[in-house]
Amino acid sequence: MSKLRSKSISQRLFVYMIIIILSLLCICTPLIINSYRTLNFAQQDLISIQILSKLTDTANKVSRERAYANKLMSNSSHQQVLYRVELDRYRLGVDENIRQNIQMLKAQGFVRVAEQLQSETMIDLKIARNLVDGYAALPDASRTSIQYDHAVQAMFAAWDSDREILRAFVIQRNSGESQLSDYITMILLLSDLRDQAGRAASNIIAPLSFKEQIPDINLARSLQTQYQAMYLWNLIDTLQPKDAKTPEYSRLHEQVKAKFLGEAIGLIRQILNESRRQEAYSITGSQLTERIVDKFSPVVDLQKYMLDESLQLAQQQKRLAEQKFVLTILLSLFALAIVLLILRYSQTRIIDPLIQAREEILKLAEDKDQIEQTDLDKKNEFSSLFSAIKKLQRKLQQRDALEFQLRNIANTDTLTGVSNRLALDDYLTIVSQHPPKLSRLCLMIIDIDNFKRVNDEYGHIVGDEVIKMVAEQLKQSVRNSDLIIRYGGDEFLVLIEDVQYAKALNIAEKIRTHMASKSITLADLGQSIQISLSIGVAVGALSWLDLFQKADQALLRAKAKGKNMVEG
Ligand code: GH3
Ligand code: MG
Repeated sequence: MSKLRSKSISQRLFVYMIIIILSLLCICTPLIINSYRTLNFAQQDLISIQILSKLTDTANKVSRERAYANKLMSNSSHQQVLYRVELDRYRLGVDENIRQNIQMLKAQGFVRVAEQLQSETMIDLKIARNLVDGYAALPDASRTSIQYDHAVQAMFAAWDSDREILRAFVIQRNSGESQLSDYITMILLLSDLRDQAGRAASNIIAPLSFKEQIPDINLARSLQTQYQAMYLWNLIDTLQPKDAKTPEYSRLHEQVKAKFLGEAIGLIRQILNESRRQEAYSITGSQLTERIVDKFSPVVDLQKYMLDESLQLAQQQKRLAEQKFVLTILLSLFALAIVLLILRYSQTRIIDPLIQAREEILKLAEDKDQIEQTDLDKKNEFSSLFSAIKKLQRKLQQRDALEFQLRNIANTDTLTGVSNRLALDDYLTIVSQHPPKLSRLCLMIIDIDNFKRVNDEYGHIVGDEVIKMVAEQLKQSVRNSDLIIRYGGDEFLVLIEDVQYAKALNIAEKIRTHMASKSITLADLGQSIQISLSIGVAVGALSWLDLFQKADQALLRAKAKGKNMVEG
């Protein structure tokens, strides 16, 4: 029964341990999941920046392809060969870039963006290239500025399509990091800025190449793109993150302002003015392209700088997220290990021994009553233990009482009821542990005078009665706390603690006179007998032996002096 109960306690403890471990897991798991998600976001951010870097590079290249196309179209058929080679080579580079972008987007899960790039941008680019090639294939005499402008606008459309790819990608990526989002917005705006600035020139390249006055529609488009570029620049200035204002950023910023806003826009305005005043143009179409295309490079440099910064930021965030993730895992494992150790320790060192102790206590206390009680106590595993402990306590109390009684019997003189020599031994053991007691301890040795004669004259039974009577007399003469010992035969010891010599003599004298003045009536014989006592008194000694010898010597003196007296 008790074994079964212990097994059930162990099983319950096991369940409690499982609950504790599960609770710990409930605390740790969300922390781990959270830090894993942060790490995942950081990884996605890093990949996003890497993809964005490639996509913006391609967008800038598509935008720059206009420059090569313009060079081809601005020159007459017999001058075109070199530009044709240049353009074809450049187009191969652009196509390779787009192909890589498609692969990369697909590999990173941006399938829709990849498909858009393939199905829309590439087709728009193809249409634009066909128009450029168609125009370039025309004999010089059949060419018109309108056809040229048409091809230029088709190139605009191809870039617009590519910009949509950038936008679609940024929308599809998900990240909560705001600083990085600001950077990405700036990077997109810079792509737009680079293209709008190019358009300000491209919008007038056709009439310029034909040395015609710029039609109002081209003028309007050029101005619109100029304003658009200025607007974008102001927007970038507003968005510029505070901590991105490094010396390098400021230098690039200044360059964009000087080269692009100052020189490039200035050059375009100069051509527009020449057209308005109907003056001969100071430069040709291909010269405009040559001179203006480098003015955009600070914008691309600034964009590159922002991309590098974003990459560094994303890498740093990824590192931090990795550290946090590893730390969370390690701390969780550590906490789990500690809990397991504590549980294991408490089971092997505390609970198992307690269960074992409980079994042993139950076994010690076990009897029929106990077993019935255990059945009643099924609600509480430990109530049976406590009733067992109570039972053992009762048993111990009974045993103590018995031991006390046995000890009393052993220490008592059977004839007189006073203590015997065994009790004296116990007392001397206590005194030997407290030697100072001896210095103020009084020992009286009391001996009945001529007791042999009592025995001889009246028999031993009367002798015994006399001894009992003397003991009774002694009990009445001293306090309960004083020790009366029947030392042997007709000899008694009285031990009184903490008493002065004079007082001790006084007490002894009282005992003696009391006994001497008393006559004992023997009813059976119709006589009365008189007895006397000799008492040797000693107070204080270095050892019990000394004290005893002193009292014994005193007794001998009392006997020698004629008995019935006290000597000290
Ligand atoms: P003294 O005055 O010198 O003491 O002489 P005494 O006759 O009393 O001599 P002692 O004290 O030596 O004798 C003690 C006697 O007590 C000896 C012994 O026979 C007797 N006695 C010893 N134990 C008992 C006992 O339990 N009952 C009886 N009735 N007599 C005992
Ligand atoms: Mg005697």
